Amino acid sequence: MLTRSYDVAEAVVLPMTRDVAQEAVGPILEVYHRTKLETWKDWEAANVMMDLPHKWEFSLLLLHDHSPVGFLIASVYGAETVHIHQMAVLGDYQGIGGGKSLLTRLIQLADEKGMRDITLETRPGTEAAQGLYASMGFEVIQDAADLNAYLINKGKLWRDDGYYPIVREGVKVWSKELRKKRVTARALFISPHTDDVELGAGGTVARFVASHEVHVAAFSDAWDAQPESLPENTLLGEMRQAMEVLGVGGDRVHVLKFRTRHFQSARQRVLDEMIRIRDRVRPDFVFAPSTRDSHQDHQVVINEVLRAFKGSRTTILGYELPWNNLSFETTGFVALDEEHINKKLAALSQYRSQQHRRYLNEEFIRGLASVRGTQIGSKYAEAFEVMRVML
Ligand SMILES: [Zn+2]
Repeated sequence: MLTRSYDVAEAVVLPMTRDVAQEAVGPILEVYHRTKLETWKDWEAANVMMDLPHKWEFSLLLLHDHSPVGFLIASVYGAETVHIHQMAVLGDYQGIGGGKSLLTRLIQLADEKGMRDITLETRPGTEAAQGLYASMGFEVIQDAADLNAYLINKGKLWRDDGYYPIVREGVKVWSKELRKKRVTARALFISPHTDDVELGAGGTVARFVASHEVHVAAFSDAWDAQPESLPENTLLGEMRQAMEVLGVGGDRVHVLKFRTRHFQSARQRVLDEMIRIRDRVRPDFVFAPSTRDSHQDHQVVINEVLRAFKGSRTTILGYELPWNNLSFETTGFVALDEEHINKKLAALSQYRSQQHRRYLNEEFIRGLASVRGTQIGSKYAEAFEVMRVML
């Protein structure tokens, strides 16, 4: 039996990985059942182990003498919000800093990972806990009145059957804005096939690597479309070299293996992968094919981009591929210097197996960049279709 003679300073906060949770699920449930109201007792091992986005990065265990005396389960919603699903601390550790230790560590983790806010919900009868949240800078942003609308807005209704099927009286939503802002914005360039991004936005990649954390995701390395005369993975190797030329680190290049010209039949899996990449990168900018791109795979990709990012605070821009564009709205521009165009050309020249393609020549690349530059009074530019801008 724990007593108040134990000091919370002797307790330790541990990251709750899947393995840790598996091992501690019994004691976790005991803490839960000893601390929660009678009406909340329908929570079981399956709930503890449920896989949610980034859950194993943000959930924590409070241990004393190797035994769980408290825990916090949190996961990521809408790319930049950490939501606390459950938090419980045994009575002996309440009021002396048990809950505070868990929250302090969570705030630190969320800050480090560039999250913008932390949210949670409280129910009636939890006034002591609410006092703790308030003391740690959480503010009530929503009373029960329109909770479902709030959750939908935040992209938190992640299942069709609803995270909250009904609005409950007395439920409050709390939020803590994280003060530490990221200094580096993140940009995600999405390429249906290898070389699409280099052609449509290679100059922008070259310019952004100096000031942004740049990721590139290719949904197909065209393994099934390359001529049989070429060695296996020729295009994949060429893409990796092109990325190196542009300055995108290997750990920021994400390559998937969808079949060329068959994205339509794999649409749901394309969306699933898009969401996985979204949650991993949490970009501020997304570059993707334009909505007027006629290539069947490119159409699938842009549709799934719009679906995956609809609840995120992300700027979405479509790049120009004239041979695929029925028309192109030049509503966005990135001004480029000579060095950016040179890098784009050098990156494209890595695609040795593709040099027969007409659009892969220097005259075409410089010509288009010069036309787009002329529109904004710059020597060179790449133009983009603006689908969404976050200011
Ligand atoms: Zn393509």
